[in-house]
Amino acid sequence: MEPKVLDIDLSNRSYRISSIPRDIIRKYIGGRGLGSYLLYQSVPAKADPLGEANHLIFTAGPASGTSLYYSSKTNVNTKSPLTGIYLFTISSGIFANQMRKAGFWAINIGGIADSPTYIMVDNQGVKFRDATSLWGMETAQAQQAMREGLSLKKVATVGIGPAGEQLLRYAGAFGEGSLYRCFGRGGVGCVMGSKKLKGIVVGGDAEAVPADEDRFAALRREISRRVKTDLKGWADRWRRYETASDLEVLNEKGILPTRNWQTGQFEGWRGIDKSTTPSGWPEKNRACGPYCLTPGCREVQVKSGPYGGARSDIEWETIYAFGTTCGVNKMDAIIAASQICDEFGIDTMSAGITISFAMECFEKGLISIEDTGGIELRFGDDKAMIAMLQKIVRQEGFGKELAKGTKRLSEEIKGSEAFAMQAKGMELGGYECRGLNGQALQFAIDNRGGCHHAYGLPARQEIFDGTRLEIKGKGEYVKKGAM
Ligand code: SF4
Repeated sequence: MEPKVLDIDLSNRSYRISSIPRDIIRKYIGGRGLGSYLLYQSVPAKADPLGEANHLIFTAGPASGTSLYYSSKTNVNTKSPLTGIYLFTISSGIFANQMRKAGFWAINIGGIADSPTYIMVDNQGVKFRDATSLWGMETAQAQQAMREGLSLKKVATVGIGPAGEQLLRYAGAFGEGSLYRCFGRGGVGCVMGSKKLKGIVVGGDAEAVPADEDRFAALRREISRRVKTDLKGWADRWRRYETASDLEVLNEKGILPTRNWQTGQFEGWRGIDKSTTPSGWPEKNRACGPYCLTPGCREVQVKSGPYGGARSDIEWETIYAFGTTCGVNKMDAIIAASQICDEFGIDTMSAGITISFAMECFEKGLISIEDTGGIELRFGDDKAMIAMLQKIVRQEGFGKELAKGTKRLSEEIKGSEAFAMQAKGMELGGYECRGLNGQALQFAIDNRGGCHHAYGLPARQEIFDGTRLEIKGKGEYVKKGAM
């Protein structure tokens, strides 16, 4: 079967199905390649990220919908309202899998609906549904409502929360209902909000069949073998700590971004290390898809104390953003912050770093307690951090300023640009890159801004091969690791 793209125009509630030539699929490999190609074809230069001409393009890769291990990623491309440039953002989950089962390699959404809408995609095509009653709902609640009464047994969902509706520039799109898989970076949720698109439901019963079944089976066996042998150490750590397994190493080497990157070591790291999470806290499996050999995703619930009842699956990005960079050494506070971000639908990284930037502005006397609306915004004060986050997600008072992101905020606070930890408008990933020359280079040149994801992750490699402080050859090194 020819690969198919589903083009949706929200402005006139119409859709069109077309084929993508196979040479395009081969030339622009994977969901990110195909999404970038379609974005370039669909969005004119100088398009307003929040205007009708911007598109939101969900793409699958060749392995999506098959049983290949680690084929759980979905890619979204758009023009970012946070950075004003190209954006891709990815999430694990079953969205790409179900997109392929519905018969599509890509769902390319343009236009703006005239009222809140969600769309349902299956093998028959698209239905446009009224989302007026869902507008204002939190991410999981809205997706639960979209799933009600469906005839399809298995579907994937993605949706936005109140932050996306209110065009918060770093609002994300959240998938799989209360499992909270997140397309976090760059404001995909804000673009959905600008299109009055509350969510998408997708599912189908088409098969994605490998062209060569024998080689496909051999590849599966080889991945499984490697995870059980050469990668066993990594696999064991991942099942327990996921992305947060290297906190101690980063701290020891002085490359743990602390108090808005003022230093690279955090004396309170033990309080936010996953290995020290109290054993009595209830845990719930949050594994996203069927073909992961190392599912480490667990929701942890705080048992008691000021954040008792808060629950979330904590990844490294959330730990450094609300922990080390804000100088907060309490895991329960980080879990509470993460839950607020999940429910209102915003990126934990941009939120935490913008707060830590404001903390430095406050401590340096560049903003006052009058500016913050009565909050003593100091490093290490978890209550102040949560209070400010509550203001951000509701865009109240000074929260409205922080909702613009670090770069825009720094342009408004005189004398603060030098310590605004962003590149091209995107807040930096969790590495103190003065001790990681490859990672520093990647932050600088990454085509979506200061993110750790696009060109591999040089930090992880250069820490372990001992080349992190080398300069010569680092360009080639970063290029080699690019994916
Ligand atoms: S189950 Fe967890 S670790 Fe495995 S692919 Fe999904 S998100 Fe990643």
